[in-house]
Amino acid sequence: MENVSSLSFWERQTYFEGVDLLIVGSGIVGLNAARAARHLKPNWKILVVDRGAILPYGASTRNAGFACFGSMTELLDDLKNNAENDVFDLVQRRWTGLQRLRNVIGDKNLGYEELGGYELFSAADKLVWKECLNRLDGFNQQLESICGKKNNYEVATHEIENFGFSGVNHLIKNKGEGQVDTGKMMKSLLSLVREKNVDVLNGIDIKAWQQNESALLVDTGNGFKIPTQQLLITTNAFAKQLLPDILVEPGRAQVLITKPISELKVKGTFHIEKGYYYFRNVGDRLLLGGGRNLDFKSENTYEFGTTSKVQDHLENLLSTIILPKHTFEIDQRWSGIMGLGPVKSSIIQKVEERIYCAVRMGGMGVAIGTQVGEEAAALVCN
Ligand SMILES: Cc1cc2nc3c(=O)[nH]c(=O)nc-3n(C[C@H](O)[C@H](O)[C@H](O)COP(=O)(O)OP(=O)(O)OC[C@H]3O[C@@H](n4cnc5c(N)ncnc54)[C@H](O)[C@@H]3O)c2cc1C
Repeated sequence: MENVSSLSFWERQTYFEGVDLLIVGSGIVGLNAARAARHLKPNWKILVVDRGAILPYGASTRNAGFACFGSMTELLDDLKNNAENDVFDLVQRRWTGLQRLRNVIGDKNLGYEELGGYELFSAADKLVWKECLNRLDGFNQQLESICGKKNNYEVATHEIENFGFSGVNHLIKNKGEGQVDTGKMMKSLLSLVREKNVDVLNGIDIKAWQQNESALLVDTGNGFKIPTQQLLITTNAFAKQLLPDILVEPGRAQVLITKPISELKVKGTFHIEKGYYYFRNVGDRLLLGGGRNLDFKSENTYEFGTTSKVQDHLENLLSTIILPKHTFEIDQRWSGIMGLGPVKSSIIQKVEERIYCAVRMGGMGVAIGTQVGEEAAALVCN
């Protein structure tokens, strides 16, 4: 990136002077905050910056694209440490967040498909399977009041053979679960924001800021400062690098995708082991992610990258359980960094005068990111 002495007068005046709201991070939260802030403040100069050199470099363009709001084993696990109301409030938040995402971007632009979500149970999951059966009716009542669907969860063990799985004893289907094309989602959102006269610039790494009487002076790692009236930090996993006291830890998530597989039977989104593993079809490819539980310590990192420990395990799952009847080749592997904390809720708050944050989306940012961005914008603009 150019340093200040080589920025022209025009560049400086057009992009970096007179900023009313500077948003740090152009993931799903930052872009939605910009969109919503423009609606509330038509005359503000709004600038979104991201340190990713070409594209944002966090989780929003690197995730699995599950439009999910809670699988049964995940909710049972949450119920161990949280009140029932809190657990289903979060389901509600994820459900309404997804409807908001679909309204804002549109299903076609999202590549949204509602193929249903499934949980896989092996012989080792006998106890949790029984617990799911016991709770099925109660969970369905809760879900009906949230998403209006009758019998949202249903036993789908008869579908195991259609999918071609091996070593799977039972399936539960979540009828309302869908999937998005993550690339289309983020590209459409970026276009929407730019259409609304918000500048989104890459390659700008925010380092610190100083308050003065009339503005905040925000230091970039690029040799110049950006004066702004308000600063909104939407850096999610990386929040602690700017706000050292905030309770957000990085959690790396690794993914792989196969080359196209002829006659792939797997369609929909799938969860194994309380969601520690997840897979879906992307057209006729299979995307599989997870395995952070194999080595929590090493995956508690800001560093992108893949490890043979996790990737070998993912490949083993493919050949033994998910695609035992297919030959497949891995096309690509990548990682993204999630923002995690001691509880699943996100943090949307004023940090100090002129400074706000909306961070810690966990593994739910596709579901809640639109609404979180809107709530952050309302906080900043009012
Ligand atoms: C592999 C993977 C799979 C996932 N699958 C799903 C899923 O299926 N469904 C779901 O709902 N969620 C999923 N998630 C989670 C979801 O992607 C995230 O919750 C969501 O994208 C977070 O959005 P965000 O805008 O808060 O943060 P991010 O998208 O991480 O954006 C933060 C941005 O801040 C920028 N930044 C950081 N520090 C600075 C700085 N100092 N200066 C400038 N810029 C900075 C980064 O470059 C980054 O682009 C997954 C995540 C991963 C990694």
